[in-house]
Amino acid sequence: MIDNIKRHAVFDGSGNQFSSEDGVAHNGGGKKSNSGWPLSHASSKVNRIYYLALAVILVFMGLGLAFILYCSEVSKEDTVGYIQGATQQITFALEQHVKDEFQTLMASATAAEDENPLAESATIRNLIKGMGEYNSYVAIGLADSSGQALWRDIYGRQHHSDMSGEDFIQQALTGKNTLTSPRLDTVSGLEVNYYAVPIYLTGSDKIKGALFVADQEDKLRNIVEHSLYAGLGLAHIINRNGDYVIESKSSLATMVTLGGGIFNLRIPWDTAMEKRIRDDLANGRSGRVEKDFYGQNRLIAYAPLKINDWYVFYAVPENMVSAGLKSLTIGAVVIISVAVALFILFIVLIRQANNQSRQSLETLAFVDPLTQKRNYQKFLLEGTELLRVNKGTRYALCYSDIKGFRYINGLFGRAVGDHLLCYWADFLDEITYPGEVFGRMGADVFVSLRKYRTRQEIEARVAGASSRLAVFPETLARGYKVEAYSGIYVIDDSDEGLSLSAMLDRAISAHKMAKAQDNGDRLRFYSHEMGVQKLWEAEVEAKMEAALEHNEFNIYLQPKIDIQHDDRIMGAEALVRWVSPEKGVIAPKDFIKLFEHNGFIVKLDRFVFEAACRYYNDSVIKCGLPPYVLSVNVSRLSLMQPDFVRIYQNIKERYSIPDKCLELEFTESLVFENHALFRSIVRECQHSGFLCSLDDFGAGYSALNLLRSIHVDVLKLDGLFFQVDDEEERGCKLVENIVSMAKSLGMKTVAEGVHAESMVKQLRAMGCEAVQGNVFAEPMPAEEFQAFVEVWNGYRTAINYII
Ligand code: C2E
Ligand code: CA
Ligand code: CA
Repeated sequence: MIDNIKRHAVFDGSGNQFSSEDGVAHNGGGKKSNSGWPLSHASSKVNRIYYLALAVILVFMGLGLAFILYCSEVSKEDTVGYIQGATQQITFALEQHVKDEFQTLMASATAAEDENPLAESATIRNLIKGMGEYNSYVAIGLADSSGQALWRDIYGRQHHSDMSGEDFIQQALTGKNTLTSPRLDTVSGLEVNYYAVPIYLTGSDKIKGALFVADQEDKLRNIVEHSLYAGLGLAHIINRNGDYVIESKSSLATMVTLGGGIFNLRIPWDTAMEKRIRDDLANGRSGRVEKDFYGQNRLIAYAPLKINDWYVFYAVPENMVSAGLKSLTIGAVVIISVAVALFILFIVLIRQANNQSRQSLETLAFVDPLTQKRNYQKFLLEGTELLRVNKGTRYALCYSDIKGFRYINGLFGRAVGDHLLCYWADFLDEITYPGEVFGRMGADVFVSLRKYRTRQEIEARVAGASSRLAVFPETLARGYKVEAYSGIYVIDDSDEGLSLSAMLDRAISAHKMAKAQDNGDRLRFYSHEMGVQKLWEAEVEAKMEAALEHNEFNIYLQPKIDIQHDDRIMGAEALVRWVSPEKGVIAPKDFIKLFEHNGFIVKLDRFVFEAACRYYNDSVIKCGLPPYVLSVNVSRLSLMQPDFVRIYQNIKERYSIPDKCLELEFTESLVFENHALFRSIVRECQHSGFLCSLDDFGAGYSALNLLRSIHVDVLKLDGLFFQVDDEEERGCKLVENIVSMAKSLGMKTVAEGVHAESMVKQLRAMGCEAVQGNVFAEPMPAEEFQAFVEVWNGYRTAINYII
């Protein structure tokens, strides 16, 4: 992950590597890309699946609904079919019954053809009696053509009465079989229907009288109501006006009717519907309607009877008829609902699982695996959002790293290094207030966006965070004080439109400065000058390749004076200078660090090395200058090139430089970085005829005990030792110890950056072999060196200090 972040940082930071202590990717973090692409891609894929699932649910529900509608339609059709069938059945049964009745009467009438209806003959009496008893009529009688009747009541009593006024007698006497509407039989108190048929004279069509019976109204009602559902339906016989002829006695009928006829209901008909029914009835048509009675839909059918102007009026609850189908429909609804619910549950579960995997992806993408805090990617996202939302709030962007972190790893072990990072990350998290954000950028670099009111306040907070490092128990216990460098960029209103990573570049510039100056507080605010520095760097980067091609890089030489042997010149160090046609001589401090960052140093070192060899060949081999040791600087990156030794050896051989005349100066920091590798390279270099020295010894984190296992030829004591200060006394003691220890290990010592004669004396007394410093000579153009040597040594052969 750190590698990924680095790549990102390089893009964002215009070529700046964010970590000064790079290469410490020791947390072995995730391997996933940090870019947001996989997540958004995954989420759009997930969304597509959800849409698909939703579409499936909708289609499923649609199909289910269609099926239910279909079922209810089928159910309705069934109901309609049923009611039509039932109406037909009733009609048929009624008509059949009436027909049978008439046939019976007509048969009896035939028997009475030869008799006088009123003559009370045995035949007539038997006929009346038989019919009365056999057919359980309420009354039975015969009338002559004048309407005088002889009849028998329900109790078997005979009566003579004038019935000429009765409509059914009159009808029968005109030759019509007649059935009346129910009327009250005063003898029995029952509602009865009268049936009457004509009696013909034997062998003629002349009517001589009528035969009539009164039959209980209930007989017809029973036929009509035979197929009703437990009072939930109703069946009336009505006439064409809608008046009841035989009114249903079902509970529904009682509930809905106000009496009299079907148009007199408690819940009136819809006007259009009533009109339709009236029309149908008036015109002898059958029909079918639906009406809601007390929340239940009734299917109603009416059909004309071939009896008088009568109609059968029949109503059933819709759901009763198709109860089976209804329950099937309900079953289907339940099954569909359960299936949809299960499907939704399934989707929810998938979603949950998805969220979980999304969370773990986010963790991979946004959480630093070592500290479990935000990584750089997340910091950028959240920080950008904070700045967007909290316009008007003062923010400072802080970029911090731990001083000499890789040495801490080297000295205390990686586990301690990891603990230190977690320890600091926890603390930084602790002091991150709402509206602020911090994250780990990688290695030992932490970035934070903090609110502030005054510069002093932010300074105090950053210093406070750094001071926390000093009390890290695992290093404190061994007397080591951990410190941090911080670069701060104060964001102001004019930064609108500047990206967070661009602001971070500025914090990094400030951080670089803090590091370069390395004074007490190790904290710098970004300033305009740093911007200028950045511009300078950009210019250098743009010109470096061309400058190398055009030989703008020259070597200067600084002599090394053998202070133990009459201050003779025993060697020189080749130091590069950029002689620019526009800017004049540019010192290494203005470009070496940058080249070390951008990798150009490898080319430059090789170039300087070759120039040094060429010069040596010219001056010593060709021009007879006494042999001396010429040293060149080798940067960490150059040394790390896989074929480093072979390339340098080839160049050395090409210029025929004898063994032990070239010295390679390696910086001290390499020893800590990869001790084993350093040792093996040193051995290889020595094997190839190079001398090796450890440069800047004492400037950083030199551990004297490490020296025992590194067999360099020369130890170059850093100029810091020889800066005159209050601790001069202590410094001297230290140098003395180092010199004697180096001697005991078979190493020469060269003191660098010595200004004062008095110091030379002291060094000589300590046994230090040589001094390279302005006290004797400043670095000079190579062309001047030969003349310098000649003057200095007075043409004497330099003493070979190597032996
Ligand atoms: P260095 O390798 O430690 O070289 C010694 C530096 O100390 C030189 O600085 C030299 O001019 C300076 N110096 C020597 N005596 C005195 C003194 O008495 N007082 C003061 N103030 N300075 C003194 P210079 O030439 O500016 O080089 C600076 C650094 O740049 C070198 O430090 C070396 O690390 C780097 N450098 C120079 N040339 C090359 C090169 O070709 N390759 C690489 N990789 N680095 C180079
Ligand atoms: Ca050097
Ligand atoms: Ca040095």
